[in-house]
Amino acid sequence: MKHELSIQAETERMPAEPGAKWAEYRATGQAQLTCSCGYDSGKVPKAGAAQLASNHLGFDVTQSSNWRK
Ligand SMILES: [Zn+2]
Repeated sequence: MKHELSIQAETERMPAEPGAKWAEYRATGQAQLTCSCGYDSGKVPKAGAAQLASNHLGFDVTQSSNWRK
């Protein structure tokens, strides 16, 4: 099984100013890991996402140039 892991940083919509023409989003500090094999970490603290990814893939993702924070 090939693992194609992706990380999605969670954002939340900020309350808009009255009359604002766009919405603002900010990162919540939570992230979710999903993989092509069906793995889904659910919401986890973003700081722990690299460790979870490493555990899943079996190598240290922070040592890989493919890893993006
Ligand atoms: Zn996987």
